[in-house]
Amino acid sequence: MDIHEYQAKELLSKFGVPIPRGGLAYSPEQATYRASELGSGPVVVKAQIHSGARGKAGGIKLCKSEQEIEDAAESLLGRKLVTHQTGPGGKLVSRLYIEEATNIDKEIYLGFVMDRASERIMVVASAAGGMDIEEISAKKPDTIIRVSVDPAVGMQQFQAREIAFGLGVDPEIVNKLVPAVMGCYRAFRDLDATMVEINPLVITKEKSVVALDAKMSFDENALFRRPHIAELRDKSQEDPRETYANDRGLSYVGLDGDIGCVVNGAGLAMATLDMIKLAGGEPANFLDIGGGASPERVTKSFRAVLRDKNVKAILVNVFAGINRCDWVAKGVVDSIKELKITMPVVVRLAGTNVEEGRKIIEHSGLSVISADTLAEAAKKAVAAAKNAA
Ligand code: GDP
Ligand code: MN
Repeated sequence: MDIHEYQAKELLSKFGVPIPRGGLAYSPEQATYRASELGSGPVVVKAQIHSGARGKAGGIKLCKSEQEIEDAAESLLGRKLVTHQTGPGGKLVSRLYIEEATNIDKEIYLGFVMDRASERIMVVASAAGGMDIEEISAKKPDTIIRVSVDPAVGMQQFQAREIAFGLGVDPEIVNKLVPAVMGCYRAFRDLDATMVEINPLVITKEKSVVALDAKMSFDENALFRRPHIAELRDKSQEDPRETYANDRGLSYVGLDGDIGCVVNGAGLAMATLDMIKLAGGEPANFLDIGGGASPERVTKSFRAVLRDKNVKAILVNVFAGINRCDWVAKGVVDSIKELKITMPVVVRLAGTNVEEGRKIIEHSGLSVISADTLAEAAKKAVAAAKNAA
């Protein structure tokens, strides 16, 4: 789960990470009021959306007068901001963060991620932070500092100092950088984060250290024990297809193609996407119906898949172990009738109660397309979607 920049900053500041003063605004009037609370100096008006690269998309505006603040707020609120991370649809700006402007001397990149290969938290830092970090990490990978944290002892002060020295900052800055780095680490660990990114972490002309931007993501499987994190969720920033399915206990990820997938097991769901691609088609989603799925759950899955208006054909692929093919088949038949589905539905069943399952489909009188293997099912689904297009 992602959260907004202002939310991440608030969390991080509780762990001792210095942030600029700022306030939230939902209207141009509130924006100027928030700015007046900060004093009379320049402010930065920042669009709050679940995406980075807002600066390059015009979502970050430095304002020197009340009129400029009002204009910036007016132009951003209610608009869909398209960055190169949002996709062409963009993301709706409904909140602004108004922050006192900072005199930047140096922009540092600081990131914390789970490194799955080493099963450790990895700290990544670069002296060349700011808006072009992707380019720099591609062109000069040797300038990136990497430190991995031993989970038995946690991150140590000396490791934070190593990062600070590696960044080549003045000794007086090192002592300010170390608590900021340690604070981010503690926030990552204590809040079940999967990512913390400060880009840029700034050294100001006045020789202080502040997090000018902040991004955090959280492990959704841990949200049950982090209610104060769970409540930071902003559904308006999520793919509505995913919100719908996930709110109904389905494991669903939206994709860009036109073949809807109803599959059991995450591994088989991934394999199904691969097979569709191999057959020359594009999947519309990843969906794992889970084990022991009832006919009702299958219908729920069909409903979720059909909310995507790009879907032209549906592929059901079930390898039943704990599941039962007869239940799934009943679910498929019920769904087609109940939801009045007219698009082609391709079904491949294997495993527990497969014969009973096939019979239910055959005797339904519906024109379901059957397949014996995954490859055959994928080919048939791709052909059906192409015909319907
Ligand atoms: P992002 O583009 O979504 O990553 O948004 P950021 O919050 O990182 O802002 C983008 C860029 O705007 C930063 O890298 C800074 O260079 C610049 N910026 C943001 N806040 C300030 C500020 O207070 N003063 C100045 N001079 N530049 C700022
Ligand atoms: Mn940034």
